[in-house]
Amino acid sequence: MSKANNGGAGSGKKPATVTRKTFDEVLVPTYAPSEVVPVRGSGLDVWDQRGTRYLDFTAGIAVTGLGHAHPELADALCAQARTLWHVSNIYTNEPVLRLGIAMTQATFADRAFFCNSGAEANEAAFKLVRRYASTKFGAKKSRIVSCLNSFHGRTLFTVSVGGQPKYSEGFGPLPEDIIHIPFNDIAAARAAITDDVCGVVVEPVQGEGGVIPATKEYLQALRDICNEKKALLIFDEIQSGMGRTGNLFAYMEYGVVPDILTSAKALGNGYPIGAMLTTNEVASVFTAGVHGTTYGGNPLAATVGLKVMEIINTPEFLSRVRHAGEQLQRMLKGLIAEFPQVFSEVRGKGLLIGLVMAKKYLGKSKDITALAEKEGLMLLIAGMDVVRFVPALIVSDKQIEEAGQMLRRAAAAFVKANP
Ligand SMILES: *Cc1c(COP(=O)(O)O)cnc(C)c1O
Repeated sequence: MSKANNGGAGSGKKPATVTRKTFDEVLVPTYAPSEVVPVRGSGLDVWDQRGTRYLDFTAGIAVTGLGHAHPELADALCAQARTLWHVSNIYTNEPVLRLGIAMTQATFADRAFFCNSGAEANEAAFKLVRRYASTKFGAKKSRIVSCLNSFHGRTLFTVSVGGQPKYSEGFGPLPEDIIHIPFNDIAAARAAITDDVCGVVVEPVQGEGGVIPATKEYLQALRDICNEKKALLIFDEIQSGMGRTGNLFAYMEYGVVPDILTSAKALGNGYPIGAMLTTNEVASVFTAGVHGTTYGGNPLAATVGLKVMEIINTPEFLSRVRHAGEQLQRMLKGLIAEFPQVFSEVRGKGLLIGLVMAKKYLGKSKDITALAEKEGLMLLIAGMDVVRFVPALIVSDKQIEEAGQMLRRAAAAFVKANP
């Protein structure tokens, strides 16, 4: 096999020219990325290798909530980079202590555990519910209940708890004693959550599964049943949290409080960090040495997370997100009115919005995002039937209008190609 760059260490060769084709040559093919290779971003604008500008309504999958190259975040990160990068958890550090205060003061939680990704935050949560139950009630109380179509990450435990079998196929034997129930189905929850259940996990708004908000009655029922059966309730707010729905966390709007909450994605605005928040009572079983991570809560990540919290968690910022969400919904409803044969419904909360393909075109959401990209608009799907809109939370009304014009052209091209 030919190699683009044979230079070993110290060969002194210039860095190789890299293109989208390089991906196919040197990266493990777990992804099939777009032909567009972004090189620079600012706010919601992204430029690719050719200098073409795109309007980014993906935010790196609901991650860059404050947009690309946010000056305050860049300054905070650079200042910390010149001060202290990493000390491991043999030592604590000031930024992580400050972030711990900020996140516990802002939420139901008394304590925070920091890690490096959403999957790790959920991994910690799932281990914690098992550990809590085995410590307090004995080894028999080990079952975890999760929802069909849910997504909780890609480690072996988190794909097993996640409700999409395609992600765990071929990786067996899988962790045991995990069951899946239909989302938003109270009767199914009541039947499934028995005395041997240690934890129940749910996304307040299913993200990857199609942008489907839980009903208030459903989350309240889960809370009540968990109390009754002494099971812990986990809210996976990795996608729905950090301002995305117009509240710091979605649970605040629902008025239903979990025992454990997981966060990641927008918490670091693209700098890798995850968090698991919980109460004193539940955290008490995670004693020294029981769980850990080398990088988790390192000074760089914690500095960024703290700055993100400071910027997002103000009434003005969050009310602006709700306003932008209404504008986005209005724009998309206009698009449905114009293309009723293509799109059927808008759903979601705040700036976590799904546009559902009409019956005739189920399975074609990816065609829409591909055509939108040609028009200069970066978009996501949430399954093959739903186009997902998760722009940076700082999106302006004007940018929503501009996205609408690009989408209209993409929809027209779609109709032409799919009469
Ligand atoms: C993205 C996501 C995860 C996984 O986060 P990673 O950082 O990719 O590990 C877990 N749960 C939900 C709801 C997510 O949206």
